[in-house]
Amino acid sequence: MLIFKTAKELQSYITELKKKRITIGFVPTMGALHYGHLKLIEQAQQQCNISVCSIFVNPTQFNNPADFEKYPRTIEKDIELLENQQLNILFLPTVAEIYPQGMQPTTPYNLGEVTHHLEGAFRPGHFEGVAQVVHTLLNIVQPHQLFMGQKDLQQVKVIQALIQKLNIDTQLIMCNTLRENSGLAMSSRNQRLNPQQLHESAIIYQALNYLVAAYQQNLPIPQSLKNATDMIQQTKQLEVEYLVIANANTLKPLQNWNEAPQIAACVAAYIGEVRLIDNVLIN
Ligand code: AMP
Repeated sequence: MLIFKTAKELQSYITELKKKRITIGFVPTMGALHYGHLKLIEQAQQQCNISVCSIFVNPTQFNNPADFEKYPRTIEKDIELLENQQLNILFLPTVAEIYPQGMQPTTPYNLGEVTHHLEGAFRPGHFEGVAQVVHTLLNIVQPHQLFMGQKDLQQVKVIQALIQKLNIDTQLIMCNTLRENSGLAMSSRNQRLNPQQLHESAIIYQALNYLVAAYQQNLPIPQSLKNATDMIQQTKQLEVEYLVIANANTLKPLQNWNEAPQIAACVAAYIGEVRLIDNVLIN
């Protein structure tokens, strides 16, 4: 595995590969890798000749400085996992490398409605930061395909909007969410949970599955959401921030199951200081 720390070196290496018509698959991450990340890399390896993964904890997407400080960083273990996975290229930039002109965005991306709901509403500035870093990384890596997880469904839709708006020549592939045996979505943030919290957080996926059943039985959305919220909050440590049925493309919350062709149940909940998100596609 080659490790690049500067954009310039990686860019010129990739330019040479592309001259030879080698296809590039890219998986951007913030590290503290788990099998969800490795599954994205596996998919990139299956679909492209060369796979690139980046590890960069992007300061501009954290609206909460404590969350940024406490974000797990396990770089040595990550490198070992990536070597075992036979990844071709790891990009490990510093903040100065990604933001040589400073972290202030020049012009806002204005990616429209999809950035306004859910994570956009509860984490002001989050998607501007995500768009900023992914745009920068795409400029450096210039991948044919970009692999992102459904775990962050709204992020996938935001990046799709970015790619369309800026006419970027990259195909975005959304990959399934990997889960623990308990159903809990794998997440770097799970490393901050103690065994009791890990056990209790499994109720989040059960509540999402309850909403799938509620859809199948055509129960009204408001009552279904109340029941699902109560389910989660029966676990004393868990506090729901939002739980909604949303249009799976715009993430707009819905009142009726038939208001959109594709719908998703989306949740954000705190357990202690740790904020977890998850979603399921319903139809
Ligand atoms: P992160 O390191 O959390 O920024 O995530 C990097 C990429 O991995 C994003 O595209 C995430 O959506 C994806 N990802 C995170 N957790 C999972 C999971 N449990 N299953 C599949 N993909 C995931």
